[in-house]
Amino acid sequence: MTINNYINGIDTPPVHGRYIDGINPATGKIFAQVAASDAADVELAVQAAKKAFPSWSTMPPEQRFNILNGIAERILQKLDVLAEAESLDSGKTIKTARTIDIPRSALNFRFFATALLHFASESHYTQGQSLSVTLRQPLGIVGCISPWNLPLYLFSWKIVPALAAGNCVIGKPSEVTPYTASLLAEICQDAGLPPGVLTILHGLGHEVGAAIVAHPEIKAISFTGSTRAGAEIARIAAPMFKKLSLELGGKNPNLIFADCNYEEMLATTVRSSFNNQGQICLCGSRIYVEASIYDRFKQDFVSRVSALKVGLPTNDNSDLGAVVSQTHYDKILERIDIARQEGGIILCGGTKVEVEGEGSKGYYIAPTVIEGLPLNCRTNQEEIFGPVVTIQPFSTEEEALSLANGTSYGLSATVWTNNLSRAQRFSIELQAGIVWFNTWMMRDLRTPFGGVKDSGIGREGGWEALRFFSDTKNITFRI
Ligand code: NAD
Repeated sequence: MTINNYINGIDTPPVHGRYIDGINPATGKIFAQVAASDAADVELAVQAAKKAFPSWSTMPPEQRFNILNGIAERILQKLDVLAEAESLDSGKTIKTARTIDIPRSALNFRFFATALLHFASESHYTQGQSLSVTLRQPLGIVGCISPWNLPLYLFSWKIVPALAAGNCVIGKPSEVTPYTASLLAEICQDAGLPPGVLTILHGLGHEVGAAIVAHPEIKAISFTGSTRAGAEIARIAAPMFKKLSLELGGKNPNLIFADCNYEEMLATTVRSSFNNQGQICLCGSRIYVEASIYDRFKQDFVSRVSALKVGLPTNDNSDLGAVVSQTHYDKILERIDIARQEGGIILCGGTKVEVEGEGSKGYYIAPTVIEGLPLNCRTNQEEIFGPVVTIQPFSTEEEALSLANGTSYGLSATVWTNNLSRAQRFSIELQAGIVWFNTWMMRDLRTPFGGVKDSGIGREGGWEALRFFSDTKNITFRI
């Protein structure tokens, strides 16, 4: 299979004819040749977007709604095909893709399609003096760059608000997981999205990604990925005064107090640790447990985690599939070795998993629980982004808080407690963009999404996203 760019509504080979391998992580086999685009392809995309912008940005909202909502409907009609493609490309179980990734991608289209019908702006009236109107206008051409962990889900989470706000979008999915974005191109064509409104460019971050960031006619960059790449993007885009939204890495804490609803906490903590092989930016990778229930938690948690089945993503019995690539697999195993060298005790997992048959060359890692490590070690400070968590007891609220806040990241935090005043205190004191109490990954798409500290700047979701993708103009009438 060849995965080409989608430029001007047409399947377009890369200008310089270069391709990279698309690999199925469940088997280690090459299944596609993926366009390795560069600045020349970005130039083609910008020219197509410039032509499309005048009519797209002035299209009546109802018409834009119909097209975007039509894409949502078509995604749902193709649920099974897209779920299989997502699983093949990323190693996640088909079950996960079918129940989480693809339905949420459709919802992203539907949510922002309806939002654009209600997007309004403020006016400010001073009696006898002035009436000011805040006009929101699309930026023009914007760049959206997304990672591999939730491929179509995060790609659509970025491109749809940009399109809804009237922009033309140059989107770049991860080179590691390009498949569903290429299927989305066909869906967009079928749903009547005019040529040039959405371009999808494939290829490497430091080539085509960097060329998108550096192009002077691309007015904003919305990026989700590593803190390292986010810093590089900011270095190039900031002096060009581009709008920037950066959703970056995390090292999220889970704080578990003895007064929590224990069974619910336990089941959710298994999920929040190992869902999608731990490759969700919101997964809790540092688990802190009140000392009085630490031993009970440790025993129950390790027993539940040990029972999780790692296997072929196509098998409905698999709880965990493969991690996304050979590089990532090697990195995670190396990080587990570092944890050992740092004095960590591996309570379960800690090794690769051999899957027989077609999975024998795939990238499978056992869900791993480690204890006995201090806050200030690489394992507890650096993002691993795999099926690896650490557990540690705490004695006081103060200690729990300083452990939770003790990294350079600040994406999300989860607290398990039934003590209301404690919950209120933690809701204020935790350094995170998202704080969940007695739940995890419960998302209302109207709420702001993003992190503090090294987890990024800017917020996605709801009106925040539509505002990011528009410029405000203050118009004042003297009266
Ligand atoms: P990555 O930074 O390597 O790549 C992300 C995307 O950026 C890819 O499309 C890549 O090609 C591109 N890219 C890389 N370098 C670039 C550059 N110099 N210029 C332009 N584009 C560039 O990240 P990844 O490995 O694909 O994803 C995993 C990371 O994403 C983890 O750190 C994870 O925490 C983070 N993430 C964050 C969120 C969030 O909402 N905060 C969500 C999901 C994933």
